Amino acid sequence: MRPDILNPLFRPITSLAGVGPKIAETMGRLVGSGEDEEDVPRIIDLLFHLPVGLIDRRSQPGIALSPEGAIVTLKVRVDRHQKPPRGNKRIPYRVFAHDDTGEIALTFFHAVDAWLDKQLPVGATRYVSGRMEWFNGRPSMVHPDHIVSEADFADLPKIEPVYPMTAGLSRKTLVKAIGEALAELPTFPEWLLPDLVRGRDWMAFTPSLIRAHRPETDGDLEPQSPHITRLAFDEMLASQLALALLRAHQRRHTGKARRGTGALRAQVLAALPFRLTRSQWDALAEIDADLGRPERMLRLLQGDVGSGKTVVALLAAVTVIEAGAQAAIMAPTELLVRQHARTIAPLADAAGIRIAVLTGREKGRERENILTDLAGGTIDLLLGTHALFQSGVEFPDLALVVVDEQHRFGVHQRLALTAKGGATDVLVMTATPIPRTLLLSYYGDMDVSRLTEKPAGRRPIQTSVVPLERIGEVVDRIRAATSSGAKAYWICPLVEEADGLDLAAAEERFAALKQELGPRVGLVHGRMKPAERDREMARFQSGEIRVLVATTVVEVGVDVPDATIIVIEHAERFGLAQLHQLRGRVGRSDRASVCVLLYKGPLGEVARDRMRIMRETEDGFVIAEEDLRLRGGGEILGTRQSGLPGFRIARPEHQAMLMEAARDDARLIVERDPNLRTARGEALRLLLYIFGRNEAIRLIRAG
Ligand code: ADP
Ligand code: MG
Repeated sequence: MRPDILNPLFRPITSLAGVGPKIAETMGRLVGSGEDEEDVPRIIDLLFHLPVGLIDRRSQPGIALSPEGAIVTLKVRVDRHQKPPRGNKRIPYRVFAHDDTGEIALTFFHAVDAWLDKQLPVGATRYVSGRMEWFNGRPSMVHPDHIVSEADFADLPKIEPVYPMTAGLSRKTLVKAIGEALAELPTFPEWLLPDLVRGRDWMAFTPSLIRAHRPETDGDLEPQSPHITRLAFDEMLASQLALALLRAHQRRHTGKARRGTGALRAQVLAALPFRLTRSQWDALAEIDADLGRPERMLRLLQGDVGSGKTVVALLAAVTVIEAGAQAAIMAPTELLVRQHARTIAPLADAAGIRIAVLTGREKGRERENILTDLAGGTIDLLLGTHALFQSGVEFPDLALVVVDEQHRFGVHQRLALTAKGGATDVLVMTATPIPRTLLLSYYGDMDVSRLTEKPAGRRPIQTSVVPLERIGEVVDRIRAATSSGAKAYWICPLVEEADGLDLAAAEERFAALKQELGPRVGLVHGRMKPAERDREMARFQSGEIRVLVATTVVEVGVDVPDATIIVIEHAERFGLAQLHQLRGRVGRSDRASVCVLLYKGPLGEVARDRMRIMRETEDGFVIAEEDLRLRGGGEILGTRQSGLPGFRIARPEHQAMLMEAARDDARLIVERDPNLRTARGEALRLLLYIFGRNEAIRLIRAG
């Protein structure tokens, strides 16, 4: 049960004045929600939506001395209204006003006369604040952000935070909602060690969060500022504590030893069209050893894209199936689940292993049948999305859960999953090569196996960096290559209406390429229905289409081995990790592959470095280290790097030292107060809830 003190923060944002269901939905797109994607965000979600900039309205230089483009506040006397001629919407409504230094036109488009009469009555003195514009030597201010009377001057915000926004939501609405949300913040007991707080000169959690929303200088927005550091540390501690509790729980609850007979494995191996690499054998040996021990396994299988993790997962599953139990493989998207199913089905068939697929798409009767078979023990291996966690999914004896592409799942789900199975071993697979320094942050103390070699016969990928102006040559090359049988991906960055950047929409690119190349071009994107997307993927797989235009939905795990060309458009917009992931879609066979990074210049320094690194190396671990270095070099605050999960405020790449301190603290806590019963322990429970790590509390209670 959640402590009462937290209730105000966990109410849906619709409980705030002025936030109806529609606005809540829009805000949800912006701030996400901690629990379930579908849920209305809670007040706490809104509170973690931090500003990325500020508007300083303190400057009052007077009309004549206000520079072009500057944000200023002016104290003016209203002289006259100049209405636009009736019926002409293009001419604005102008209100002329003056101060000691000169005259200004306050300009309004589509104005409502009555409103302006009320806001700016002739003869009145008003404070107006907004952006100054000079046109032909005449000053104006278009739609001032604020208009207040002298009496209300105190209400005019002198410094305003700037939040990341989304289409369909006004700044005012957001700021107001956040203001109300801040008012709900209670005073919490301190969960950090007093020495640390004193030594660092930190404020308590609540004033720190308030300060984060009310920056006064640019420095207040920096990750190094004391209040943000404090919040980041809180989040890291929550995360490390959850991981430490999970670990302790896992140690307390012994699993079962599962030993395979080797009979089914032999059949699967015989059906494989290739031989396992040394690395794959090594990883499998480590996994088998874990499975064979009565302690529960919690192992991370790290392997670069294309290193062959899927077959390792399957063979691990085969071990527990031989021992008479069941296994589940979970992937983050429907697309990946289907793909795993396609890869695994023939191999499973060859060995008489019964598999089934369970995602959001299996509904009604079909779903019922699967659940019945599962409960009856006639399914050995279940593949699915997170639908696998839902209640009603009961395994008679679930021995192994493989979580593929873990970085799409939060720690939260991992905890939920561990709490589900009684004695379930967990194998987490990730293709994001995570630097050793960060492994800890994301995975805690997990055992790690690494696939370090690529399957035999793979050829290096030729990577070239080409300016967008030369797109015609790229298209020509693709025409030639696909005419003689090659397959190519063409990746477009995701289109967010909100950012207003001129990203090439996948649909436009698709249409343009179709003009050039004809019916051999297909399209997949994230807003397609899963069934449609699968169909298009299948057409690409079969070769019916040879050029697949895609948004980054193909980023994770998609496997079409005979695709040998990938063009990444607006490559400068992608992070290194993502570029590497995308490039890994090719180079999956013994045929030579190419990757074209199509960029729009001029390139910034960091983007240029990224391109260089991509050209120089294919080693995922090297790329990960470089990525860390570049990001440490100060990416703009607020840009969310893809790939690494789970943190709302902390940015481990900037704060690695803090993470270690948080880990050490978490270990001590679990050693001294494993059930969080002391006063500090009670406060730490609050912390776990606040940062969405409260699943860990269930593990305590479970004993
Ligand atoms: P990832 O590690 O990215 O998930 P996959 O498991 O999808 O990689 O494997 C990539 C491709 O390599 C698949 O087509 C798979 O069948 C193939 N593969 C896996 N292991 C080997 C191997 N030892 N030799 C040759 N091909 C392999
Ligand atoms: Mg994979």
